[in-house]
Parts: sequence; C-alpha cells; structure tokens
Amino acid sequence: HHHVQFATLEGVEAVVDTGHFHPEAIVWQRLADYRAEGGYGLLADCREGRVTVEALMETLERANLRGLGGAGFPTFKKWRSVRQEPGPRYCAINADEGEPGTFKDRYYLERSPHRFLEGALVSAWAVEACALYIYLRDEYPGLHRVLHAAIAELEAAGLVPPGYIVLRRGAGAYICGEESAMIESLEGKPGKPRHRPPFVAQQGLFDRPTLVNNVETVTWIPLIWQKGADWFAGHGRHGRTGLRSFSLSGRVRRPGVHLAPAGITLKELLEEYGGGMAEGHRLAGYLPGGASGGILPASKADLPLDFDTLQAEGCFIGSAAIIVLSDQDDLRAVATNLLAFFADESCGQCTPCRVGTEKMLTLPEREKWHVEQLERLSRVMMDASICGLGQAAPNPVLGLLRDFRGELAAQHVIVKG
Ligand code: SF4
Repeated sequence: HHHVQFATLEGVEAVVDTGHFHPEAIVWQRLADYRAEGGYGLLADCREGRVTVEALMETLERANLRGLGGAGFPTFKKWRSVRQEPGPRYCAINADEGEPGTFKDRYYLERSPHRFLEGALVSAWAVEACALYIYLRDEYPGLHRVLHAAIAELEAAGLVPPGYIVLRRGAGAYICGEESAMIESLEGKPGKPRHRPPFVAQQGLFDRPTLVNNVETVTWIPLIWQKGADWFAGHGRHGRTGLRSFSLSGRVRRPGVHLAPAGITLKELLEEYGGGMAEGHRLAGYLPGGASGGILPASKADLPLDFDTLQAEGCFIGSAAIIVLSDQDDLRAVATNLLAFFADESCGQCTPCRVGTEKMLTLPEREKWHVEQLERLSRVMMDASICGLGQAAPNPVLGLLRDFRGELAAQHVIVKG
C-alpha cells in the first residue's frame, strides 16, 4: 500500500538541512552581520526621506513582485489600495504557511529573519501602519524563538519602538492562512473567514484598513531594491517574469526549496533542480499547488508553472508547492488524503463546504464514481463556499476524473457518466 508523501515537519527538516533538527540549532544571520552587508539601509532611506513610497512602488511594479502566499496579487497595488484608506492602518504578515507541501517561508525565516523583518517594516512604513503584526504558525516553534530574538535585537538597537512589532502564534488551523480568518484569529476570535466585501484592505484588523503580505513577498523587497527591478524581472521562462521559490517534495531525488525562474515547467524543474525522479520511480502526476491546486498527469509536465497559466487545467500554482507522484502511488489514497485534509480543516461556517467535504470523503472508497453527481456537488461547493478551502476541495477529485481515467480503471474504479 502506497501513500502520497507530504513533507512533514521532520521530513522537511531532514531534507532541507539536517543541521536544523533542533530549534536551538537554527543558524540565523544576526543583526550585526545583516547590517554589515547593508541591511536595514532601505528602511533608513525610507524613514529619512531618501526613498519615497512612490519610487518603491514603481520599482516593485517593474519587478512584477506578486503575492507569493498564493493569490499572486501585485504587491504595489495592494499597498496602493491600503494607502487610499483613512488611518489608522495596520500591517499584518501572514507566516502561517499551512498549505501541505509548502515550506519556503520557513526556509527564508530560518536563514535571514532580518531580511524578512526589514521587508515587513518597509511594508508597514509604506502604509503608515501604527503596528506590525506577525502571525506565525505554531508548528514552527524554533522559528518563534528566532523571530523573538531578532525583534529583541531590533528593539535594543533602537531600530524599532518596543512593542511596534507584535509576534503572534497560530494554533494549528489551516484555515488561519486565509487572510480574513488570520485577522479574526489575531483579534482573539475563532479563525473563520469573513464575507467580502468589505475587504481587509478597507476593514481588516480591528476593523481598520490592513495590509496583509506573505513572508516571502516582503523578504524580496530589500533585495529587489538593492539589485534593481530589472534583476528580478530578468529571470523567468516561457514568457513569465521573476523568481519563484518552489517547495519540491514527493518522489524526487533532491527535495527541498529550489529558487527557480517563474514559468519553469515541471519537467525542467525536476531535471535541472530536483535531480530527476527518485530511484525506481516513474513520473505519474503532480500536485502543482499543494493540496488546493489540483492534480495533473505526467502528460502535462510541460506547462509553465506560474500564476494564471494553469487555470485552463482547473489547477493553480498557489504558493508553488510541487508534490511529485509516481507510478507507485495509489491515486485513491492520494485523493483520500487530500479530501480528509479538507474535511478536517473546514471551519464549518458554511454548509456547502462543511457537508460537501464530508460527502466527498466517502467517494474514494466507492467502487463506482458517478461523474455527473460528483460534478454537481463540486459546482455547489465552488459556487457557494465562502472561502478558497471549500472552493478548492473538489479539485483533486475533478482532476482524477479529467486526466486519470485509465489509472482509475487499473485500480478497479468504475467511472460512470
Ligand atoms: Fe469555512 Fe469551508 Fe466556508 Fe471556508 S468554505 S468559510 S473553510 S466552511
């Protein structure tokens, strides 16, 4: 019996860097070292008027920096929409990183917490935020200590007023990675997504206009400013621009975080970065966006992996978590794994998602899959769920029905309709 292997906490630590096994053993760049290489120079330039918000936004626009938490919304536009709203405003950084298979934010936070903090502080400055909140997933206890220590260094150096940065821990709910649920959780309430409008840019934390950015997105800001927009936008393949941090896991020889050009195909990523398939495994398919991004067959390994481009396939790249499946993976087990995850993590607030995910979960065990019934249930979930969890939950099953009929038949699943 084979199961899809998600990168677990232990697994990631093992593959990314075995030296990081104990939280105490994380080796991170201290404030003095970061400053020695010009760190916090951009923040000082911003605060002292040598860099204007407009100039920085123009640079981010030319660099085509987009939200790397999953949505891909242009960063400068987000800043602009929050700036249009009346103050006081907040800035909140989403460090919940709960998408199965995603571990890139952790990778950057473990190595350069100060580059992240500078990017976060610059973002807060850009919207004149009265406070900067960081929502860190509780499954990263080592990182909590690192960030706590790094913030203390900043306060001791007088670079930030004590208490301006508020570090908050999540409590293990996947849904708190959804920005409005994260805000509810930051306010001390159960993490349930809000109806929109109003958007968090208008009414976010404590009902004030709030800029919500992902860890990796803001981590790029100091580097893009330093190296220039053209440097960042100069990377890319197949007509896409920029760099993407792919969390690569599953049946590959070299799993881990791979920084690669946006728009790279799975085939290229596997061969050039992942060291090819693991010994004795043949590519059968892949999840292009963790649990939520759907599932694609090996025959579609030549699609550019980037925002927007997978939509025609009913998939999306999200936070660029690529999970590689082989001929030795049981597709029904994959589907069960994903559906159980969604059923478990549904916040239960809306019926299509709460009941739909439970109903879907009974499917993989059935010998006959009724296509029409399944598609109708999927439609309801996609159309009527409040947030992305319920909307994305049918993706793995729809993907199997679309592209894996032969494999399902081989596993004695009768697809009707
Ligand atoms: Fe909660 Fe699911 Fe509705 Fe999202 S779609 S609000 S997770 S019940």
